[in-house]
Amino acid sequence: MATTRTLTIIKPDGVQQHNIGDIIHAFEQHQLKIIAMKMLHLTKNQAEGFYAVHRDRPFFDSLTTFMSSGRVVVMVLGGDNVITRLRELMGATDPAKASAGTLRKQFATSIEQNVIHGSDAPETAAFEISYFFSELDISK
Ligand code: ATP
Ligand code: MG
Repeated sequence: MATTRTLTIIKPDGVQQHNIGDIIHAFEQHQLKIIAMKMLHLTKNQAEGFYAVHRDRPFFDSLTTFMSSGRVVVMVLGGDNVITRLRELMGATDPAKASAGTLRKQFATSIEQNVIHGSDAPETAAFEISYFFSELDISK
């Protein structure tokens, strides 16, 4: 099975709620390997660039205001089938629809404030990883 990489973000609500440890613990329990990690506070402009694919959605302004409202933890994860495995661990976008045991079911408070981001395909993972990390950060 191909080893691949994905980009995850512990969103400002997850940091505010002290879920960083819970989420990293879940990654380690599920054999999602942490390749690179940093904490930062996005500007509104940086959040808009990251979520540019959603710029025509009605929630774009609110989403990017939320994503720039506090510090986030950005990570590159690796492992077999990691994109799908992370998305399964995250649960549905709307926590009300997320399965028991998923991170969003446990920690998210709304469809917007849903604790965690994960890339949804190899192409978006490549763009999102390069948005935050250089080749040097993720080599080896
Ligand atoms: P993410 O891209 O953050 O991993 P996702 O792929 O499950 O989440 P998307 O459809 O890509 O969901 O939406 C991106 C983010 O926009 C969601 O995670 C959520 O924070 C916000 N969002 C999505 N739908 C809505 C909505 N209807 N109202 C408000 N915010 C929303
Ligand atoms: Mg998405």
